Formats: sequence, structure tokens, C-alpha cells
Amino acid sequence: MFKKVLIANRGEIALRIHRACQEMGIRTVAVHSTADAAAMHVRLADESVCIGPPSARDSYLNVAAILSAAAITGAEAVHPGYGFLSENASFAEMVEAHGLAFIGPTAAHIRMMGDKIAAKDAMRRLGVPLVPGSLGELATLDEARAVAEEVMYPVLIKAAAGGGGRGMKVAHDASEIEEAWRVARTEAKAAFGNDAVYLEKYLDRPRHIELQVMADAHGNVVHFGERDCSLQRRHQKLVEEAGSPVLSAAERDALGANVTRALKELGYRNAGTLEFLWQDGQFCFIEMNTRLQVEHPVTEMVCGVDLVKEQLRVAAGQELGYTQDDVRFYGHAIECRVTAEDPDTFAPSPGRVNTYHAPGGLGVRVDSALYSGYSVPPHYDSLVAKLVVHAATRPEAIARMRRSLNEMVVDGIKTTLPLHRAIMEAPEFVAGDYTIHWLEKFVAGRQP
Ligand code: ADP
Repeated sequence: MFKKVLIANRGEIALRIHRACQEMGIRTVAVHSTADAAAMHVRLADESVCIGPPSARDSYLNVAAILSAAAITGAEAVHPGYGFLSENASFAEMVEAHGLAFIGPTAAHIRMMGDKIAAKDAMRRLGVPLVPGSLGELATLDEARAVAEEVMYPVLIKAAAGGGGRGMKVAHDASEIEEAWRVARTEAKAAFGNDAVYLEKYLDRPRHIELQVMADAHGNVVHFGERDCSLQRRHQKLVEEAGSPVLSAAERDALGANVTRALKELGYRNAGTLEFLWQDGQFCFIEMNTRLQVEHPVTEMVCGVDLVKEQLRVAAGQELGYTQDDVRFYGHAIECRVTAEDPDTFAPSPGRVNTYHAPGGLGVRVDSALYSGYSVPPHYDSLVAKLVVHAATRPEAIARMRRSLNEMVVDGIKTTLPLHRAIMEAPEFVAGDYTIHWLEKFVAGRQP
């Protein structure tokens, strides 16, 4: 096992990775921008290195500075967390070229899945079902029109390099296709420097259900069940559950068997998540994330597994040491993403947190880098805490989440805590009766 790991990230996920390392007797190296000198991930790490000014481009995305930090501290491996460099295939290559282990998949698999057209093509060949749509990149508007007629409106034009819900436009009928095509390409070019787009049928009432997988370098692949991430605003997840309120154990097993077979054929290793839209009992693959995801704790709670420790073990060349039959699911888990944003307008609300009080008690987990007196910097993602609860049943988990949300105090900045409290009371949420489109309407209905 590694003796020292560099964590190329910040905030709650840097802490999350640090905690797993500590428990395994691995020393940690934190990297930070000048804006994060007093951050909790820096305070708790065994060593820390400043890698640049506040702007992420000059610090957390500064590959040369991060590799230098690894060299001067003698780290043997790099954990990228999520976001920043986690899905940057060239970074993974450079880490390995410097004789370090990259705690994640191979650069080739990161590259393949980072191009959504290549990812869909690979999954189609491996026999994983897809959303109907274009077979590859759309070369012309006329081609977009032809495919849209074939799969029937409404359709979605999506960026091949997409992420974070950007570069995605709906055309409800033929009169809207030209505009959707133009806007999606312009957005994709601006956000990703790549205007390649493809087309999918726009599903009107799907749920977003994703499967967590873990693979070692010896051909063993298991899945840790599904997460339901249908509660989204602007294609971004706000609340996640494990398991899905609508999926039977038989459906989970069938999907899991198909996916683990496909990834074994692909020779995939380390953690990964396959995202699907689920409608009328059908799963349609949309993309694969080749990294740890924000919402991984709900899976950890129901499976009793530490996914970061598994990532570290796999990256160090160890075998999983268990099979699918050893994976058990117990109870229900829910995660609320608490962000430093106005709960009604979603305007960012960085600044000083005067008082921070985390809830506790049986089945409550808070992944957060907050502390009283901490100043949330304006330069990065607005996520400040993940409140996760686990209970024997879904109704008990909802009751526990309501109780925990009421205990939690983040005073001095605006947060989305009031919105989460409202979601936990909404009859549709309580009934488990929601699609990916529900939250957007719920939020609009709350506007003052
Ligand atoms: P990104 O990588 O930008 O997050 P995804 O392909 O993962 O993009 O899609 C994000 C979200 O957008 C999905 O969870 C879903 O809510 C919505 N979405 C994506 N594809 C479709 C589709 N074909 N029909 C309806 N909604 C979709």
C-alpha cells in the first residue's frame, strides 16, 4: 500500500479522501490555492503545499504545480477527487509518466468516456441499451433534422464534450431544431472548446438512475447498486437516494449483471458510474463518469463499503477480494447537497460563516469542510456540505433527514437548507413519485 498520497482537490472531497487515507495509515499531502490557506483540508492533512493564486486555472488545474508538489513531498500516488483534473486523461498520463500512481481508471478509458459520442458507441457495441438518437456526431443541421424525424420530437442536442448540464438544448418540434442546434454548438464551443454535438430523443418523464461499479486490475468487477438522482435543477443533482424508490431488486440485479459484464469486457479498472435514464421500465445509458462522484456516500451507507479505500486498494494493485454475492444492501440512504446559494434565486452567497453546527445522532453523516469562522471563497463550486442519512426504511430516512436539516446551522451566508426542508415535506417526494422534471417545477412554484 502507498505510504503517502497527494490529494489534488479541495473542500469536502479532499477531507473525505484524507479520512480514508488516515484510517489506512497513509500520510496525506494537501494542495491549496492562496484563497484556501486556512481551509480544513489543509489543516488536517499531514503536509500541505500552496500551488497558486485563487483562480482554479492557476491552482487546482495547475498540473505542473501539482506534480512538483508530489515530487517535493515524496508522494507515491495522486487522488484527483471529482471535478478539477479528475476526468482529464492527459493529467492521468502525466501522473503516471512521473512514476506516480493515478487513483482512478486508465487514461484511455477516461478519454473514451469523456467523449460522450465515443462512450455511447462503446456501450452500444458492448450491448448496453442507449437513448435512441444519432449514431455519432451530427455533421450538418440537415442531418440533425433527419435524425429528429426518425426518433420523433422532442429531441435534445447535446455536446460531445458535455458536462455540468451545459451545451444541451431541447427542440420540441421542427420549428425549434435550428435554434437548438445553433445554441448547443455555441455553448459547447464556449464551455469546452469543442462544438461537436449529437442528438438524443428527449425523454418526457424519466428518472435518472445510475449504477456504482468498482473493478480491480485483475478482471474482477462488482457493482454496489443504484442511486436515484432524479431531483435536479438545470440538469444538476440536488438530492440523491440509494436505492431508487422505483427499482425492484430483480431490475437492479439484471442491470448490474449487464453492466459488470460490459466493463469486464472493456477491461475497466477502479471506480466508475454508469448513468441511465429510466422510463417505462427501460434503462437508457447516457454517460459514464470515470471518477468518484459527489453522491457516492449514499451507496457507502447502504452497502457498508468505503469506496475511497477500495479505490486506493485497487490503485495499489490489490484484488477486490470479494464477489458480487458478498455485496449486501441494507436500508435506505438520502443525501442533500447544501450549497452556499440563495434558496430561492440560487445566486451565489460566499462569505463568512459565523456559526456552523452539524447535526448528529444515529445514521447521520455530514461530509463538509465548514467550521465556525470559515469564509467560503467566491472562486469555486458552491457545495459546502453533504448531509447524508441512513435508516432501515425510506420513510424513516426521510424523518431522519427532516430532523437533521432542522438541527443544522450555517449562519452568516445563505444556503439551500430551507429548500431541502421544503423538498422533504413535498408529497411527491415523500411518495417517491417524481421524474427529472419535477424539482424544476417545484422550485418555480416556491418563488416569492
Ligand atoms: P452532463 O454530463 O452535462 O451532466 P448528462 O448527459 O449526464 O449531461 O445529462 C444530465 C441530465 O440531463 C440528466 O440527468 C437528465 O436529467 C438530463 N438529460 C440528459 N439526456 C436526456 C434525454 N435524452 N432526455 C431527457 N433528459 C435528459
